[in-house]
Amino acid sequence: MGSSLKVALVGDFHQDGIDILEKNNIICEKVFDYSKENMIDKLKDAHGIGIRTIPLFSDILTKCNHLKIVGRHGVGYDSVDLKYLNENKIPLAITGTSNAVSVAEHVLMMFLSSARRTIFADKLVKDGKFSDKTLVKNTYELFQKNILIIGFGRIGKALAKRCLAFEAKVFVYDPFIEKNVIEESQCHYIDFKEGLSLADFITLHLPLSEKTMNLISHNEFNLMKKNCILVNTSRGGIVNQDALINALNNKLIFAAGLDVFLPEPPEKNDPILVTENLIFSPHNSALTLEGRKRMSVETIENIVSHLNGNTNVANIVNKDIL
Ligand code: NAD
Repeated sequence: MGSSLKVALVGDFHQDGIDILEKNNIICEKVFDYSKENMIDKLKDAHGIGIRTIPLFSDILTKCNHLKIVGRHGVGYDSVDLKYLNENKIPLAITGTSNAVSVAEHVLMMFLSSARRTIFADKLVKDGKFSDKTLVKNTYELFQKNILIIGFGRIGKALAKRCLAFEAKVFVYDPFIEKNVIEESQCHYIDFKEGLSLADFITLHLPLSEKTMNLISHNEFNLMKKNCILVNTSRGGIVNQDALINALNNKLIFAAGLDVFLPEPPEKNDPILVTENLIFSPHNSALTLEGRKRMSVETIENIVSHLNGNTNVANIVNKDIL
C-alpha cells in the first residue's frame, strides 16, 4: 500500500479505526469543519471518505475526482447521495456488524424506563417524596407481554433474542422476510394491523423511505392498546410526530421513547419536547463506547480493504456496481 493514498474522516472516529490507516501507511485527513468550502478542500483528493452523520451529497461529491469508496459509520445511509455514487460506480459501505447490539440494548432501556416510569420515580426520590411511592402506579413488566418488532434485520433480530430472554412473546412484521426465518427465531409472524392492535410494546427497525415515511400515524395509533409503549430508534419521520403527541396527550397509548427526530435536532419550541410520558435520547443509541470502537474499525476496514482490492462485499450497499 503506497503512502499516496488518502482517506478523509468526516467527524469524530475512534482511534482504534484510525490506527488501521496508520498501519497501512495511508494518509488520514480528519475533518471537523463541515462548511462546504472546507469539505471540498479536504475531500477533493481523497481516495476514501469515512462519514458519520454529516450529509454527503453531489455538491461535494462531484469535486472528489479520486474517490474510490465511501464508508458510512453506521448502517443508515439516507444522508449520502447514493444515486450519485451509483452513477459514478463508487461503492458505499456500511458497518453491518457493529451496532445492532448497542441499539437493541437501548430499546430495552427505553422499554424498561417507560414501563417502570424511571424518570418520574427518580424525581420523586430527589424531591424528598420517597414515601409517595404509590404515585408511581401502573408500572409494567416485559414478562409475558406481546412485543411487536417492525423490521427484522440486524437490529430487529438482536432485539428479539433479548426480548425472549425476558420471557416475552415476540411478534414480527417484516414483509421482506420469510415466515420460516421468523419462526426459526422463536418469534411469530404477524400482519401489520393485527400486530399493532395486540402489542404491549412496539419497536421500529426499518429504513426511512418514501414508503415508510409516516408508517405510524393517526390511524395506527387508533389501533394500539392504551397500555402500549412505542420506541423509535430507526429514523425520525417513520413515526409521525404530531400523531404521537396527539396519542400521548389523549392517552391512546401509555408512553413512548424516541432516539430519532424529524428534524434533527428538534426545534427548541417543538411541542414534542414538552409532551408527557415521552423519554428521549439524542440519536445516540448506537454510540456506546464498544459500539463507537466497532463502528470506527469496521468503517475504516471497509475502506482499506476496498482500496487494497479486497472488498468486503457483504457491507456494500450498492453491490450491483462492483
Ligand atoms: P437492516 O437493513 O438489517 O434491516 C432492516 C429491515 O427492515 C429489513 O429486514 C427489511 O426487510 C425491513 N423493512 C423494510 N421495509 C419495511 C417495511 N415497510 N415494513 C417492515 N419491515 C421493513 O437494518 P438494521 O441494521 O436492522 O437497521 C434498521 C434501521 O435502524 C436502519 O435503517 C437505520 O435507519 C436505523 N438505525 C438507527 C441507529 C441509531 O443510532 N438510532 C443505528 C443503527 C440503525
